Amino acid sequence: MGWYDADIERVIITEDELRAKVSELAKQVATDYESVDGLLLVCVLKGAVMFMADFSRALAAAGGPAVELEFMAVSSYGQGTTSSGVVRIIKDLDRDIAGKHVIVIEDIVDSGLTLSWLLRYLESRSAKSVDVVALFRKPDAIKVPVPVKYVGFDIPNEFVVGYGLDYSERYREVPFVGILHPDVYSR
Ligand code: 5GP
Ligand code: MG
Ligand code: MG
Repeated sequence: MGWYDADIERVIITEDELRAKVSELAKQVATDYESVDGLLLVCVLKGAVMFMADFSRALAAAGGPAVELEFMAVSSYGQGTTSSGVVRIIKDLDRDIAGKHVIVIEDIVDSGLTLSWLLRYLESRSAKSVDVVALFRKPDAIKVPVPVKYVGFDIPNEFVVGYGLDYSERYREVPFVGILHPDVYSR
């Protein structure tokens, strides 16, 4: 319940489903990274912020390794159809990641262009390993193949909001993931 209720046409993933999935992903990562002694989680702002907060705590609850939290903000150059996958860094990592095991925490993999660039960037900074946990993926929208080891939900190629995902910087605090009424876009 919230100010946004009338704007949501359909709930795609409920709060309970999100919680269960985050914990399932955390268990897989805890198992796979059992033998490392530290992990650096890189959250891609702003969409992945809720996921980062919940995933990092779920990972500890699942017996995972100690983590450090880093945040990056990036934006795609240009717009529309000529997306080259060239990305501008708005906020870089605060520290050196050389020799560290890194996991990128992504909200949603759409075309894959941003993530593909980011993976190359992190590898160029000499991370010891780089894996990706993405809460959502739109398989029908993929333009470049990108290795995403852990995926929460494959969703239809529709624009979704909530749990960090915005429309025009709004709806990030919506605790579930849903689709907006078409009216919202014409306001
Ligand atoms: P791409 O994979 O196309 O390079 O970019 C993915 C980014 O686009 C995501 O991290 C997210 O910020 C944004 N995005 C993609 N699909 C959606 C969507 O359905 N809803 C929202 N709110 N953002 C999306
Ligand atoms: Mg993102
Ligand atoms: Mg956005």
